[in-house]
Amino acid sequence: MDKISDIKKNLKIYNSLTGKKELFIPINKDYVGIYVCGPTVYNHLHLGNCRTFISFDLVFRYLKHLGYKVRYVRNITDVGHLESDLEDKIFKKSRLEGLEPMEIVQKYTLSFHNLLSILNVQPPSIEPRATGHIIEQIDMIQKLIKKKLAYEMNGSVYFNLKEYEKFYPYGILSKNKTNQLVNKKFKITIVEKKNPQDFSLWKKASSNHIMSWNSPWGKGFPGWHIECTVMSTKYLGETFDIHGGGIDLKFPHHECELAQSIGAYNRKSLAHYWMHTNMLTLNGKKMSKSTGNSLGINDIYSFCEKKSFSPNIFRFFILKSHYRSVMNFTKKGLIHAEKEYTKIIESINILENFNSKTLKEKNNDNFFKIFFWIKKCYESINDDFNTPLLISNLFKVSHIIRHNINEIEKCHINLLKKYMTHFVFDILGLKKEEEQKTKSSSLSDNRLSILIERLIKFRMEARKQKNWILSDRIRKELSHIGVKLHDEKLF
Ligand code: AMP
Ligand code: ZN
Repeated sequence: MDKISDIKKNLKIYNSLTGKKELFIPINKDYVGIYVCGPTVYNHLHLGNCRTFISFDLVFRYLKHLGYKVRYVRNITDVGHLESDLEDKIFKKSRLEGLEPMEIVQKYTLSFHNLLSILNVQPPSIEPRATGHIIEQIDMIQKLIKKKLAYEMNGSVYFNLKEYEKFYPYGILSKNKTNQLVNKKFKITIVEKKNPQDFSLWKKASSNHIMSWNSPWGKGFPGWHIECTVMSTKYLGETFDIHGGGIDLKFPHHECELAQSIGAYNRKSLAHYWMHTNMLTLNGKKMSKSTGNSLGINDIYSFCEKKSFSPNIFRFFILKSHYRSVMNFTKKGLIHAEKEYTKIIESINILENFNSKTLKEKNNDNFFKIFFWIKKCYESINDDFNTPLLISNLFKVSHIIRHNINEIEKCHINLLKKYMTHFVFDILGLKKEEEQKTKSSSLSDNRLSILIERLIKFRMEARKQKNWILSDRIRKELSHIGVKLHDEKLF
């Protein structure tokens, strides 16, 4: 069997920059630097966002499994991402919810962390926030101004694409031309730009704008693209190994990140490998909060006509599709995933409790060829993280374990246990349902106690209003679920 160091040499990644599957060769042997665009924290994640973060979690886990020391940087966008009316998404949400912008950031960052932990997504090595890197962003903008690749206009700074194109080609990642940067989505066009396709590096803040910082150009806030260029290069260097995100970020976000870094550092690319996950769709259309065509993790229950699925099954469902394929979210797909997953876990349980003394010792041609199977599993994941192929290999062996365990050589039982654990738990990041249940039940226990507290308060109010019928009814309902109330005199 190949050693892990040999398996490592055969990892191929589809590089969006070249449009080819390429052997993965890191800049520094044994170390990998990876940057993934994190969420803009103005809303709860939808299932599509989860798909992207689960996919990169798999990449992170597999690189570590291969023995690489991985520095995984995934940012939090907490300023600068604009809505179609040019208002900052977080600022707008703070107005709508009547909260401080930083309360919005805190609320949705906590929700993001909580959800990813439920989905068993490992935290990154560094999670920088855009607002924590304003000085570095101003520095990079100044560097671009010095090189005449950016210009200031009325307190805002724009990237000068005409000047950039004199030295470097624009569109190397998306193959788009600069005129496609004139965003039809935006309802307002900025007249002060030299060219309509020039994008913002720094935006002048209006007097009522709370999220603004002093800069050489007056009070303002950074543009979304500059944030990622700055945070990635600060922690990973001017050029690093892998840059990732959803395919919807390829243009203009990643193309602009790339242009900024090429311009500032005179490098060929920001990252050697660019990876893009494809979209999770609902009814055939991209899941997206802004169009309303989206579901959150708590919506699965009602969407699936009151059938609940554990977050673990959702993770398995996601990994059953290759990260570069479009994937439609359906109840049927989840049911199928649940069945397959249950069978795989059943086979692991059989292996764990199996008494191999009853098995034959001798080598025989009819035996299940374990080394060949392990090789096949590694080949599938090495082929641009082909999780559906890996899962089909796992499924095949789980069938043998469940129905023909005698086909397995005695001395191979432990080996099979070891590799099933590697593939299912360490790399795919799945969990046995009992572990999952403890996590989700602690979540629902928490919700239940909040609900009970609210009901008790509600009953107190009913009593104060002398609404004895309602207060009695609540007391009886609570006593049915074991909550006994002892009333004291009110007045
Ligand atoms: P956002 O907070 O909108 O920047 O999105 C966070 C991440 O989720 C980005 O990498 C997006 O590309 C990704 N994403 C957004 N919608 C979907 C979707 N429907 N399917 C998969 N990934 C998505
Ligand atoms: Zn980004």
